Amino acid sequence: MRWLHDISEVLPWSRDPEARDVGGIDTVVLHCTAMPDWNVWETARYHTGANHISPDGCPTIAYAYFVEPDGLLYRCLPHDVRSWHVGPWNDRAIGVCMAYEACDDAPPDEQLAAAADLIGALVLEFGLSVDRVFGHRELEGTGVMAEEGYMIRRKECPGAAVDMDRFRRMVAAAIERPGGPGVRTA
Ligand SMILES: [Zn+2]
Repeated sequence: MRWLHDISEVLPWSRDPEARDVGGIDTVVLHCTAMPDWNVWETARYHTGANHISPDGCPTIAYAYFVEPDGLLYRCLPHDVRSWHVGPWNDRAIGVCMAYEACDDAPPDEQLAAAADLIGALVLEFGLSVDRVFGHRELEGTGVMAEEGYMIRRKECPGAAVDMDRFRRMVAAAIERPGGPGVRTA
């Protein structure tokens, strides 16, 4: 059993975000912070202040969920908030971010396992299949761009050391486990 800690009502917002239709959600995206030692609070403060995405800051933290290196899970946003994490996919994608620097070393096993369990629970909640789970770098229009007939990779997110096919197998295994992914809201 993993406990999901809901901090969505206490994380900072810079202004009211746009709403989205929860019925249109069909994609789950794995991200990383790509920063050393950033926790969910530092990430939320960065996203809602002037940053690389917008001089006015984003309305909210970019990610709906956050996974610490030790596997601690946070819910950061309600699902009907359209946060800014994957450009043209923001209406339809839930973002799950690992606090991970995207270095040569893979994320800790416990962090990946927790992310896989959480995403398995989301796949079940939204009635998706595991092939709707992507790494940010796999999404066209934000992670990869089509330019002059070539696919150009813009992002390594969630880190070149994260094998997304292996990660999808972990999500599938979490779903198939007796009792399921075992994530409960604290
Ligand atoms: Zn990302």
